[in-house]
Amino acid sequence: MLSVFDIFKIGIGPSSSHTVGPMRIAHRFIKGAHQTGVLKNAAKIQIDLHGSLALTGVGHGSDKACILGLMGFAPDTTDPDEAEKVFFKAKKTAKITLKSKLNDVGHAVDFDFTNDIRLRGDIIPTVHPNEMRLVLYDADDAVLLDETYYSVGGGFIASAKQLLKKSKDDLIDLPVSGVYKFGSARGLLNIAKEEGISIADIIMCNEDSRRPREQTHERLDHIWHVMNECMERGLRQEGMLPGGLEVMRRAPGLMQKLREAPLANEREQLFDWLNVYAMAVNEENAAGGRVVTAPTNGAAGIIPSVLRHYCVDGGEANFSHIRTFLLTAAGVGMLYKQRASISGAEMGCQGEVGVACSMAAAGLAAVWGGTPGQVEHAAEIGMEHNLGLTCDPVGGLVQIPCIERNAIGAVKAVNAARLALRASDSHKVSLDQVIETMRQTGLDMSRKYKETSEGGLAVNVVEC
Ligand code: SF4
Repeated sequence: MLSVFDIFKIGIGPSSSHTVGPMRIAHRFIKGAHQTGVLKNAAKIQIDLHGSLALTGVGHGSDKACILGLMGFAPDTTDPDEAEKVFFKAKKTAKITLKSKLNDVGHAVDFDFTNDIRLRGDIIPTVHPNEMRLVLYDADDAVLLDETYYSVGGGFIASAKQLLKKSKDDLIDLPVSGVYKFGSARGLLNIAKEEGISIADIIMCNEDSRRPREQTHERLDHIWHVMNECMERGLRQEGMLPGGLEVMRRAPGLMQKLREAPLANEREQLFDWLNVYAMAVNEENAAGGRVVTAPTNGAAGIIPSVLRHYCVDGGEANFSHIRTFLLTAAGVGMLYKQRASISGAEMGCQGEVGVACSMAAAGLAAVWGGTPGQVEHAAEIGMEHNLGLTCDPVGGLVQIPCIERNAIGAVKAVNAARLALRASDSHKVSLDQVIETMRQTGLDMSRKYKETSEGGLAVNVVEC
């Protein structure tokens, strides 16, 4: 089973699949080269990005992420400012130091930023749209290591072998050696019913098999702190976002207005707060800041926004509620990851913002005291009204429509939780059905609308 910390991972913006994933792949490749003893003979490295990774790679910072990964940076510990300086220096000197760990001496090689990293959008991968090939050569141009990996969404990475081999555990719903295994929402609800516990309890029990509970609490609280710090930075930083689209940050200005006249528009206050929190996170993400995947970077603002509005009162965080929220949301996120995908390149934006909305709705319903059935219903509503949502980022940047879309997603998540808590017990559409519908819709969706910037707003905004 996945862990809550597979779903909520600390990384840097702007994209979990195009920034965090490629950085992890590059890092893993160099580690492998070090472990097999070939790194010391390396004279040249070639990186090829294929499919969606190439088509939106520059706007999503994939090239920079690859170089940083080769130089020993890991997404969860990277300081964005330091990373920027290191990348700038590497570009200026046309040299990179290949390191399996950041504090290693490493092995320096020349690196031609024009030819040694190639964006091959003309290659359409068959295994997964986000393909990355790395080849290490010695001084005689002999291949030392040649590997292909995939960035499969939310910062998860995999080899072709891993992707093509379907896990036998995918559809098992039985508790095995202290771990509750579930492959469906129905399975999750059955466990909750049989054991008389909540979805958050089930996920926590599974975490208990990995580490002492105290440590899980600390890590969950840390996830919240990183989310909140990201939001705080986004609420302070003004100016234009990088990338050339000339998109101005709006969160600080909106926050200022709210603080100056907190009761100016009481009826719409809920929207304003959710909007400002979600946009603060996604503007920070667009600027390459430190972000928690929730479950992806592009959709990273929805869960922190709802958490902050409903689990923090007068500046005091209610950690019990925050843990319940995160555990429940992670349980729902695992279902999407296991049964479909959380990759915009595979599912369109329904797989990112739609999933985040569904997770947030479930988390909030749990915090409001909803039964497991109501939580499942909230998650279902959260996705049902995001089905078909395309991914068409303008300029290949995670800005338009992504930033506002998170604000809309946060509001929708709250509404989904409310609808579920006020509904009668039975509902026509189950979470399993809606996840399967999302998967089928994603498969049917034209690749133009799956993180390629070849359709939708990405084409029309530029033309207008
Ligand atoms: S449109 Fe949605 S899926 Fe695509 S990059 Fe933006 S947030 Fe991610």
